[in-house]
Amino acid sequence: MIERVDVLVCGGGPTGLLTGLGLARQGISVAVIEKCQKSEQAKFGRASLLYPRTMELLDQVDVWEHMAEIAHISRGYVNYNGGKRLISGTYHSIFNQLHGTYFDYVVNIRQKYSEDIFRKALEEKGGSFYEQYELLSIVQDDDAADDYALTVRVKNNATAEEHQVKCKYLVGADGKNSAVRQLSEIAFVGDDSGIKWFRMDAVVKTDMPDARVGMASIESPIYGHVLWMCQDHGRTRIGFSLPPKLADRFGTDITEAQVREAAQEAVAPFSLEFETVDWWTLYSVGQRVAETFRRKRVFLAGDACHSHSSGAGQGMNAGAQDALNLSWKLGGFLKGWYDESVLDTYEEERRPEAQRIIDQDKTLSALITGKIPEGVGRPGATSFEVLGDFIASTMRYTLGLDVHYETNLLNQKANIGLVSAGWPGPDVLLRRPGSRISLRLHQVTKNVGRFHVLVFTGNPALTGESLRSLRSYMDSEDSFTHKRPDIFNFLTIIPGDAPQSDHYLGISRFGKAFYDSDMSAACKYGFSAALGGVVVLRPDGILGYSGELGEGKELGEYFLRFVKASVESPQEPITKKVAEIESKPTGEVEFDGETTETKPVANGVNGVHADTQTSIPIREGPTETSVAA
Ligand SMILES: Cc1cc2nc3c(=O)[nH]c(=O)nc-3n(C[C@H](O)[C@H](O)[C@H](O)COP(=O)(O)OP(=O)(O)OC[C@H]3O[C@@H](n4cnc5c(N)ncnc54)[C@H](O)[C@@H]3O)c2cc1C
Repeated sequence: MIERVDVLVCGGGPTGLLTGLGLARQGISVAVIEKCQKSEQAKFGRASLLYPRTMELLDQVDVWEHMAEIAHISRGYVNYNGGKRLISGTYHSIFNQLHGTYFDYVVNIRQKYSEDIFRKALEEKGGSFYEQYELLSIVQDDDAADDYALTVRVKNNATAEEHQVKCKYLVGADGKNSAVRQLSEIAFVGDDSGIKWFRMDAVVKTDMPDARVGMASIESPIYGHVLWMCQDHGRTRIGFSLPPKLADRFGTDITEAQVREAAQEAVAPFSLEFETVDWWTLYSVGQRVAETFRRKRVFLAGDACHSHSSGAGQGMNAGAQDALNLSWKLGGFLKGWYDESVLDTYEEERRPEAQRIIDQDKTLSALITGKIPEGVGRPGATSFEVLGDFIASTMRYTLGLDVHYETNLLNQKANIGLVSAGWPGPDVLLRRPGSRISLRLHQVTKNVGRFHVLVFTGNPALTGESLRSLRSYMDSEDSFTHKRPDIFNFLTIIPGDAPQSDHYLGISRFGKAFYDSDMSAACKYGFSAALGGVVVLRPDGILGYSGELGEGKELGEYFLRFVKASVESPQEPITKKVAEIESKPTGEVEFDGETTETKPVANGVNGVHADTQTSIPIREGPTETSVAA
């Protein structure tokens, strides 16, 4: 067992594994401990439905491709009442509100398979995973000389041996009954709703039409809104509520045979036969949120700090957002890149989102159960109709496409462009020089803890002066890029097409050149050919800054609000060099036949062109991955 690690993550569920992966991709020393033996823990069940924004985030850390191989991809929906198909129904709004992303579908992949992929990726990137190690206690020494201020006692559940692990930071991703949260004396505020729901994963036969279209629902007079989702490996998730008046019928020692029978009643008038039942549960719905997501050196993420029903399938989706929001901030801070105030933005950004999910879930879970909460809905409407309206009104949020953060240290109010700071930077199509095949922006802005600076050049005949001004600032001693060259990845986005970018622009490009053949990328970000503009995407793809093309100084001021100006060597043993991490093949991403290398370019300096014909200064940075602009 490891004795010292920079970040210890407690909990090997999806949130813990993704937090570990996010840190490991930055070269941070990280270990994840998990109290159960995963092969023995419930093998299936729990999280299944994942949404587009989550897929975008998972794609950014190179795990999505593997998940897509297994997941059931749904682009269709059908709703039934009394055996008749109703075109418009509850989850219909998933598909008519699903736009603005290239992930224009939803998927069902059972949590076990997602976890397997995350765990493998974590270990491939150098993170450690310790199974059957349970966290028992935490002691924090504020005066520790070496920054390893936390001492965590863990027990090996196989041998009963106890160990001590010293770490700088601890992330509690240990689920709803989080030991980390309780030991840190953080209250979990909320209550139980008294609602109980059945969920089961099975191989079934049915005469319901379109049973494998993807998503379906059945409006049952007894069991409320019945959920039907196609999953990986030919499984189907069936979910329905336990009406209070039937509670006595099932008693406390409910059997699988009773659950099968109830499911058959719930999907009536359609037939239902079971070939196998992998998993079933009857669980109580509650809504709780932690009073804080951070206590000194302890962070909480995922179910450890927010818990709600699975009605909108938000739990793992929200856990992934937490993990990939926290990991780049904590990783960059540990590398000495950022001021500590960056860490405060994790709670500032994620806690209101957790609260929003919980507020919505209170109404949603009541409606799914067939109850209309007071003050909700329109007169005379059935609970199914009110549910449909409510789901439609919250669907963009549920899909993750409306999740955004307020203006803060990292999200600076934009004064130009169409995308507000705090919102995800839209994925757009670009072309590499000479290529006739498009690739997605997100394929070349992966999350390895660096900021992506997109320079939309506009038409150089009109923007020449601004381009020269930006170039001159970048080349000057004052440029922010000299303070921490390894933090930035520059992309120059040029309208149309040109035989050679620097010659066309009249200056040396910033990082790699990409062409925006029909100006659709610039339009999406709100930049004209006459003005161009600059956008900063945070490592998690959120837009942090949007400014005028010639305003290099303002761009620098954005970074200097939180980037530490001095180039200090990071404290031992924080990182492996990012170059080491990245030089491991990370696989290739295929998009319409285009192959995008996610490895460093030939000279080992990602984002820096090594064009011998242009006299572009390439500065030495503290690591081989420094990005000259
Ligand atoms: C029936 C059901 C259906 C669901 N469907 C969906 C869905 O479709 N989509 C969706 O997004 N979400 C869904 N969810 C929610 C989702 O399962 C959770 O939100 C998700 O699992 C949270 O992940 P996590 O990593 O935060 O916590 P968990 O998955 O609970 O993982 C925590 C881990 O920490 C370990 N642990 C606990 N204590 C310790 C300790 N002291 N030391 C070491 N390890 C410890 C646990 O063994 C566990 O493996 C569903 C939930 C349920 C119950």
